[in-house]
Amino acid sequence: MQCHVCRSDSVKAELDAGSHPVSTFFAPSKDTTEANYPLVMAQCTNCGVIQLTKPVPHTALVPPYDWLFAREPEEHLDMVVDQLMALPGISKDSVIVGLTSKDDTTLDRFRTHGFSSVWRVDVQNDLGVANPCANIETVQRMTEPARMTKIADKRGAADILIVRHIIEHSEDLQAFVQGCAALVKPGGYIMVELPDCTTSLEKNDYAMIWEEHSLYFVPETFDGVTAYGGFEKLRTDVYPLPFENCIVEIAQKTGEPSIPRPNAAGKATVGQLSTYAAAFPKITGGLKVGLTKWRDEKGPIALFGAGHLACAFVNFHDCGDLIDFVADDTPQKQGLFLPGAKLPIVPSSELVDRGVTLALLALSIQNEDNVIARNTAFTDAGGQFASVFAASSRSVRDLFDLQS
Ligand SMILES: [Zn+2]
Repeated sequence: MQCHVCRSDSVKAELDAGSHPVSTFFAPSKDTTEANYPLVMAQCTNCGVIQLTKPVPHTALVPPYDWLFAREPEEHLDMVVDQLMALPGISKDSVIVGLTSKDDTTLDRFRTHGFSSVWRVDVQNDLGVANPCANIETVQRMTEPARMTKIADKRGAADILIVRHIIEHSEDLQAFVQGCAALVKPGGYIMVELPDCTTSLEKNDYAMIWEEHSLYFVPETFDGVTAYGGFEKLRTDVYPLPFENCIVEIAQKTGEPSIPRPNAAGKATVGQLSTYAAAFPKITGGLKVGLTKWRDEKGPIALFGAGHLACAFVNFHDCGDLIDFVADDTPQKQGLFLPGAKLPIVPSSELVDRGVTLALLALSIQNEDNVIARNTAFTDAGGQFASVFAASSRSVRDLFDLQS
């Protein structure tokens, strides 16, 4: 296969995580037939970028529900907006543009600072997509030069374009970055934010793998990618977070588009995926042994949080038959089943009612303390919380004495 980034043919498949349904397709019943998509991870030996061998097509990813939302980290945004406002040529008259709904909170910060020419690409009006469930998966595919040039002509090209947590979803990276470039004035800027896969790769955490992400960058392999749009990097910062750090690049549109050139640091990451892949059977086996033993000796086990991270844990490690249900208080999820494992989704009060002894947290690590504080009835009854994440201080891997 060809590398989705540097176009070389030297991409090596290393990890087959199996075929799984899309995590947003909560099943109405245990008997619901699901469409499965193979998740095979590969690394390019030329540029080092880790990628799915076959990105799941965006048409398969449009969720069947309109009540889903994604929350991205925000703590660093004030600082980033300060950096953007201080760029040469930027004033309160500058045009600030966002690509998706994930950019709204950044755009709001510019408005608060007195910027008045602020707009965002609208899925319905600009892209002509009528389906109210369409989101990131659709915008990434529709971001290409011809369409974005028309939108920029109509609404005003950007002095600064904000592009948060979508580039890693690109099915066609070149078209995507060039589409972004078409929204930006010559000499204008782009702010691109994406997850940094370093921690997951180092800790052998497989929750990183997600059918919505076609690309898995680390700072070394992301360096130079925006050259596809004629951008020249001004700065890259990595903002630390417990599960996945955020990479933020600020770049200026100074030249003509070119194919990103592999760099030495990116090439030096080659081998990262094979190490990660080699640990997969050991982690899966250890988790199954630990869960089986716990269940036999102590009692029922539940997952806490019905999202794609719970799907990744239970489906990739094939441990659905060792878990009784998923606790999640989202009203719309009640009575539905977790994709793949088909575990019933029930309110968190069931943890006590059904005598659960171990609840595996599968929400973001930053939320773990809050969830535990809200569920004292469970811990008072003798229940224990652990986290599915290797990077959590309460990781289930420590509970089972599993080395990462
Ligand atoms: Zn490559």
